Amino acid sequence: MRRLPARSPLQDVRLALAAVLAAALAGAGPGAAAASAPAPGVKPAHRLDEPGRRTAGAAAPRSADRAIVQNGRDLVLEVTVRPGDTYVSLGERYLADLRELPAIRSRNGDRLPPAGGTVIVPYASLNDEHKVKAILDLYPGDGPRDGGWVHRVGAGRQQASDESLWTLSLWLTGRGENFGSLADRNGIPGLIPSNGQEIVVPAEMLLAPFARLAAAHVSEGRSAAPADGEDASDDFTEVPSEAEPGPAPPAAPPRGPATDPSGQLTYGADGDGAFGAYRLKGGEALYSVVMRFTGRVDGQEVNDLARSIATRSGIRDLTGIPIGYRVKIPLDDLLPEFLPGQDPRRQAWEKGRQKTDRYTNLARSRNLEGVTVILDAGHGGRDRGASHNGVSEHEYVYDVLCRIKARLEEDTAARVLTTIKDRREGYRIRDAVVLPPSRSEILLTDPPFPLTDPYAGVNLRWYLTNSHFRRLVAEGSDPLKVVFTSLHADARHPGMGGAMVYVPGEEYRRGRYGYTGPVYARTRESREVPYVSFTRAERERSEGLSRQFALALIKSFRREGVSVHPFDPVRERIVRRRRSWVPAVLRCSEVPVEVLIEVSNLSNLPDSRQIADPAYRQRIADAYVDALHLYYGESAPRPPVSRLATAGGN
Ligand SMILES: [Zn+2]
Repeated sequence: MRRLPARSPLQDVRLALAAVLAAALAGAGPGAAAASAPAPGVKPAHRLDEPGRRTAGAAAPRSADRAIVQNGRDLVLEVTVRPGDTYVSLGERYLADLRELPAIRSRNGDRLPPAGGTVIVPYASLNDEHKVKAILDLYPGDGPRDGGWVHRVGAGRQQASDESLWTLSLWLTGRGENFGSLADRNGIPGLIPSNGQEIVVPAEMLLAPFARLAAAHVSEGRSAAPADGEDASDDFTEVPSEAEPGPAPPAAPPRGPATDPSGQLTYGADGDGAFGAYRLKGGEALYSVVMRFTGRVDGQEVNDLARSIATRSGIRDLTGIPIGYRVKIPLDDLLPEFLPGQDPRRQAWEKGRQKTDRYTNLARSRNLEGVTVILDAGHGGRDRGASHNGVSEHEYVYDVLCRIKARLEEDTAARVLTTIKDRREGYRIRDAVVLPPSRSEILLTDPPFPLTDPYAGVNLRWYLTNSHFRRLVAEGSDPLKVVFTSLHADARHPGMGGAMVYVPGEEYRRGRYGYTGPVYARTRESREVPYVSFTRAERERSEGLSRQFALALIKSFRREGVSVHPFDPVRERIVRRRRSWVPAVLRCSEVPVEVLIEVSNLSNLPDSRQIADPAYRQRIADAYVDALHLYYGESAPRPPVSRLATAGGN
């Protein structure tokens, strides 16, 4: 079920989108049959690409915004400058985030063309409304149907032979990598769509604005759209799907104490609003300052923010910033813990932290007796996860899973359950630097799921985990002696490597979550308990207990020589743009103690070399087992022997 916050701005957006869509479909021929009629009183918007259809009597005729595909794959919107426009007013009209402005400016020239001239805005930078407009301009026959989004190949302004599943997937779902799932779902052999073919993009894969239209179009009695409006992401590569919040109101310059608790920032304000100022140290790069104080880790986003901070701070050359230079970080971008003490966001953060910190796992165990570990390795099957520097995520984290499983089973009394299995290799430890993709992984649901679709794959993982958990508790296990761990490796800003651990932030799982559709209907675990939700106390307890385990992990990683991200390696949410969310495997899991470990940053060269080394993967596994001992009250009595498979005889 979709969760719609009872906020009116979102409804306004939906209404506007519905109007645009209804008008676009009204002229779309046969496809229009599925469209709902424009609501009474909603003025039909004019078609974007046909000047003759413009509403008569408009005071000042506006030129059309036009979607253009450059180089066969880059979708941009060519937008027309209006009288009185500035880059800022254009940005407010078209962009999801005003911080994209410097990039737009450098692409189009520092001087805005005069009224009637045009400016190019990349599709990825557009706000929701204009993303929909761009797609409908390029593919006027596209639209929602039965809770999904339907695209007809060759019916738009692009030649059928120029269309690709990759770009369609990128534009409608936010990830080109989803093309394989689209091909599967639509029975497209060879991944080449044919002219006239209809491609249905299911709601749970769609980007937010399309998902909203799809959900709005589901009429009574039809099967409901499976998406709950949240992303099903387990990684940084996916975009969270709720509406972007509007631009924040300009922050007032803070009063009172003028430094943050760490003493690293001073606060001030200029024409662009309030900021925290930081003096660069020797050898420090601006990107690392951005990562430390804003929590951003995505490469593109870190670089964009670093550029806009540089501009605001009067820095021309990013590579030659003098030591001691004062850089201004917008207050809105700072992590709450770096805000002034009286800032409401900082206070809310402190209050939340106090509540979750009250919880301590008092369960104790000797040699992990009575402890059950549910292990998950992200991705598998067709989806290999992140891939950089010759290392693709799944193979390597799956090998870490096998090593953890082997050590727990051989050396401790813990019981291990898994979500995933390689049908060909089983849980064989692989002592190689190059791990060829296997693609024969299945999720251990009933019936097993062959991982053809990464979205369903993520959701079935938590359904399966919850089913394991309920059975364990029913059999008399102590719920606080069950630990869920999902293993991943990501692709962040290449400048900084090291492991990071995510725990489920209380405020990011307040909804009711569940999915419907053929895959879920067929799987026992999702039929058992189709929807989950959590009480406030459960959420606070889970965040607190999980953070405690995550801190034990970090301590143990450092002791074993596993590299750890230098800033804030334990996090309760992913921060991207101005949105925060918890990965779905944590958000929907009922296991109180749960973590998602990004063991390495594959974009970072040293990290990617380390994770390729089997001895390093063993070190991660050893450190993980030590952390469990630590968490359950023992001081890790592990003998420091090498546990490579050749020695252990698996
Ligand atoms: Zn991953």
